[in-house]
Amino acid sequence: MTDRLYWNMEIEPQLGGEALRSLQIERLRLRARDLLREAPYFRRRLHASGVRAPEDIASLDDWARALPPFTKSDYRALMEECGGDVYRFLDETLPVPLERLVFMAATSGTTGAPQPYPLTREDIDGLWGEFMRRARWRAGVRPGDRLVHAFALSMFLAGVPSLMSIEDGDPLSIPVGAEAGAARILTTTRFFGGTVLSCTPSLAEHLIERAPAVLGAPIASLGLRILLCGGEPGAGIPEVRRRIEGAYGARLFDAGAGFGVSCAHAEYQGMHWVADDLALYELVDPTTHAPVELRDGAEGEAVFTTLVGGGFGWTRITLGDIHRIETSPCPCGTTGIRYRIVGRVDDMLKVKGVIVYPAAIDAVLASFIPRLTGEFRIALTEPPPRVVPPLVLRIERGEGVPESALPALEAEVRAALKERLKITPEIRWLAPLSLERSAHKTRFIEVAKPS
Ligand SMILES: [Zn+2]
Repeated sequence: MTDRLYWNMEIEPQLGGEALRSLQIERLRLRARDLLREAPYFRRRLHASGVRAPEDIASLDDWARALPPFTKSDYRALMEECGGDVYRFLDETLPVPLERLVFMAATSGTTGAPQPYPLTREDIDGLWGEFMRRARWRAGVRPGDRLVHAFALSMFLAGVPSLMSIEDGDPLSIPVGAEAGAARILTTTRFFGGTVLSCTPSLAEHLIERAPAVLGAPIASLGLRILLCGGEPGAGIPEVRRRIEGAYGARLFDAGAGFGVSCAHAEYQGMHWVADDLALYELVDPTTHAPVELRDGAEGEAVFTTLVGGGFGWTRITLGDIHRIETSPCPCGTTGIRYRIVGRVDDMLKVKGVIVYPAAIDAVLASFIPRLTGEFRIALTEPPPRVVPPLVLRIERGEGVPESALPALEAEVRAALKERLKITPEIRWLAPLSLERSAHKTRFIEVAKPS
């Protein structure tokens, strides 16, 4: 049956509604039981909020009250308490005994120590594997497809763990890995006739540039049908999507930052959360950590608790991402509330009490391309989040935009920022190409050094 709508026809039709609520509460109760038994760190926190037995968790509200969100700084503090011993840390926090772990994955640790993602067999099959299958099916991947894995295989969740969960009915896996480099990824994809490519969006863009030299033909000559991207923002950004889909002649899907995947609707609708039974999705206020109700248009810091497995061990964890959600039915017709990443907690700005994220300013300014180049900087006089008004934006005018057109353009840009973000910045114009370009994550904020 390859014409069915979802991979999991038992669960997925019920996503995003109340139908799975009692299953979630039952699983949270089991999680509380296991944490009380196995995880001293969370046992202390549960006791502190009056939770002594699994039965004390009778609703999602009880769960939100039971434990404060576990943030990156909580992670750093606890790791320090554990003397940097990762197994002591895991022993403090995991709802399963350490001998149940069979696999260690981790984040890259580019901004500090890597964060461990240990896995039990159930995490590999029932959590990660099941999520990957749901996401791939929604992206249109079917048995008979040939899937080229070009995420880093080494240590990453999207690497070897994805291969360990392979079962009958899955596409043919071709694990070349990002480590192989662009040339080998391209030649392997051609040799084995890959139909699906999974990798980071930046690698997908890099392959476009390398294809003519390596293959003697543009990337579209590979005949890939589907790109499954994730691991970093990009696949949700309209210009990046247009560039990648146009060059490959393929559909691009965006997965990650939780258990979600974008849909086939022509216009990007965010990622559908496809895992109500596998992981609880919550939003909290990024400053107070008070729960934010999941209604259309709500914004908050995303908080996750895994509901199956246990080694993965997300217990009200935050990854520092700010999401905006839509709970109304998606025009694509598939289930699952939708979330988009609108910013990072780390780069939150507060201007006269209004919270604004550089990524949100970026999105507004991008809508003015080509009258703007899209490059800009937020010039601060002191480190974020507090901004001493006015908020100063240094913005490059577009190629061929004369100085004389700037006053009118400035009025338009300011009106758009006011309407969409409730801010009225001061704009300082720059010539095109005067800001430094970065191949990686753009740094939008510059803080003036005290003179
Ligand atoms: Zn959709």
